[in-house]
Amino acid sequence: MNPYLKQEKKTFIHTFNRHPILFKKARGHWLWDEKGKKYLDFFSGLAVCGVGHSHAKVLSAIKTQSQKIIHASNLFYTDPQIKLSHALTKRWPGSKVFFSNSGAEANEMAIKLARLWGTRHKKAGREIISFNQSFHGRTLATLAATGGKKSSKDPFAPYPAGFKSIPFNDVSRLKKAVSNKTIAVIFEPIQGEGGIHVATRPFLKKLKTLARQRNFLLIADEIQTGMGRTGTFFAFEQLGIQPDIVSLAKGIAGGLPLGATLAKPHVTKWVKPGMHGSTFGGNPVACAASLEVLKLLTSAALKNMRKSGDYFKSQLASFRVYSNFKELRGRGLMVGIELNCPGAPYVALAQKMGLLINCTQKNVLRFLPPYFLPRQDMDRGIKILHSVFQQLN
Ligand SMILES: *Cc1c(COP(=O)(O)O)cnc(C)c1O
Repeated sequence: MNPYLKQEKKTFIHTFNRHPILFKKARGHWLWDEKGKKYLDFFSGLAVCGVGHSHAKVLSAIKTQSQKIIHASNLFYTDPQIKLSHALTKRWPGSKVFFSNSGAEANEMAIKLARLWGTRHKKAGREIISFNQSFHGRTLATLAATGGKKSSKDPFAPYPAGFKSIPFNDVSRLKKAVSNKTIAVIFEPIQGEGGIHVATRPFLKKLKTLARQRNFLLIADEIQTGMGRTGTFFAFEQLGIQPDIVSLAKGIAGGLPLGATLAKPHVTKWVKPGMHGSTFGGNPVACAASLEVLKLLTSAALKNMRKSGDYFKSQLASFRVYSNFKELRGRGLMVGIELNCPGAPYVALAQKMGLLINCTQKNVLRFLPPYFLPRQDMDRGIKILHSVFQQLN
């Protein structure tokens, strides 16, 4: 084992269990480790490198912008940030944007916007409803929003108040949970970390009706589903639902850290200067990279990604023959196979055979391949997966 990796325990605070691979290089849908072993990417750096690793257009924008100006602070204007604000809000006409550095921060802003709106509209209280198995980030407020029971033994308690979580896709529980205290419902169109659970039509329909009847906001956490991942720029475009606030991060800047919170004017109009901010948010280099990502996500590209996603899912459907296969879920290039057994050995064997995949919730294999993966390399990965399933069946 590489000596760095042995040393790791001495210098890192142990928040991650990492795979024992040291990556040295990545291009497109391939990564290379220290020994020069090549890996096919079905993971995209956790949905971050959607356009592929070090895309030529992204690289060139990073180089050009970093030679001009890397940071100016948000007390001034820079070109990439202005251009990106136009390009992003054009994808959701009428919206405005706030830039941060990560998904958790994008959701923090979404929560603040909802509370501000709630302060102006609700007398009874300010409660945000979220769903079990959701994931909204690792800050205290986004953890409070992240669904599931928090026991009194939780080492990070107390959490900010005003959050309540209920089962996902459960229409009757949703109906019961909303009250005149509800200011917002935060949801992922497809739960990512939670195990690739797709929001159902009847559930979304009810959510939409209730939001109108009971006057609360809809926050779509599109940090994993957005930026084309499910075959449309935002996943909500396929759902017949219009949120009031949308958070983006992960795939937004081709690998650089950037978060964005978009919202409609009835939400943003209450914000006054000084209410929110970020030192690094909307960094010019990250924004320049993001502009290139947006340029790559044309309607023709998105159409191809939908086709590619359909093909991918049809290939994965043939895994039904294996006894450990339980269910196939997902949309576009965000797909999961739930197993009847732990997924860790599958991930490890795939790695050994040169394919990067992920496992979430212990038994859901998660596939997040890069957007422009050629058919022959998709087939190559599927072939490796068949071999993995055959060996572990
Ligand atoms: C990854 C993720 C987050 C958190 O993003 P960070 O950049 O890690 O803070 C929030 N919501 C969803 C749906 C995510 O997938």
